[in-house]
Amino acid sequence: MTEPRFAGKVAFVTGSGSGIGRATAIAFAAEGATVVLADIDTSGNEETARLVSGHGGKVLALKCDVTSSQEIQAAVEQAVQEFGRLDIAFNNAGIEQPPAALVDISEDQWARLLDVNLRSAFLCMKYQIPAMLKSGGGSIVNTSSGAGVIGISGQAAYVAAKHGLIGLTKSTALDYASQGIRVNAICPGIIETPMMDRFSGGTPEGRERVIGQEPVGRMGKPEEIASAVLWLSSDLGSFATGHAMVIDGGQTVGI
Ligand code: NAD
Repeated sequence: MTEPRFAGKVAFVTGSGSGIGRATAIAFAAEGATVVLADIDTSGNEETARLVSGHGGKVLALKCDVTSSQEIQAAVEQAVQEFGRLDIAFNNAGIEQPPAALVDISEDQWARLLDVNLRSAFLCMKYQIPAMLKSGGGSIVNTSSGAGVIGISGQAAYVAAKHGLIGLTKSTALDYASQGIRVNAICPGIIETPMMDRFSGGTPEGRERVIGQEPVGRMGKPEEIASAVLWLSSDLGSFATGHAMVIDGGQTVGI
């Protein structure tokens, strides 16, 4: 029997307590990885840990606010202390923006959106990369969005953060390309998660409205993003770095 493709690898996933992060953590574990779960929501994270354990993998669930440098440093340190290495990071935690035209976005809202959705990835990579270098290299995937490649009315702060993530990803990829660390971004379309439920209002009309943006006529499943993250993180994606992979059912193709 062939070894699972992530056997012996340690993967650090943020925003692991729900949606895309949870599905990706489970997918990594199902393919042999040891998974470190970092989320501000302890109960969601514990539920993910329970689901990951069902795959027999080793798991460590940590309460971590990705806007806190100290908490990120502590989480990365704990992961390395517990498992001896760090090979993979999926920096995915994020929050949505309630629709508002630019003038109606408060300065606090702007700061919060950029903090959670962009500065967090800078902080995560700042402390993950030294650990990966000690492990002989690694792979990082940051969660951008379709909103990282197009403008969207009423979403200036979210769109700015998600565009910024792609620039951050490309530049960091170049900084570490020669040292065995690949850095990519994933840009999901409309994905069926608690965040999308909140954004659409969760009503039949709200769901229809967001599905209306999808040429394929449905929302994506978190597992359909997880499979792309796993490809980017695996040896199959070994020549991919600085790439922003759009997985969006065609949402941004015709724009
Ligand atoms: P979700 O709300 O279901 O999950 C987000 C997770 O991030 C939650 O578990 C939450 O507790 C965690 N989180 C939020 N703030 C945090 C913080 N400060 N520190 C640590 N954890 C924090 O959302 P999702 O739909 O799974 O979204 C995951 C990522 O995908 C986000 O970055 C989002 O912007 C992006 N995205 C989502 C969609 C979509 O349609 N759902 C589309 C494109 C991009």
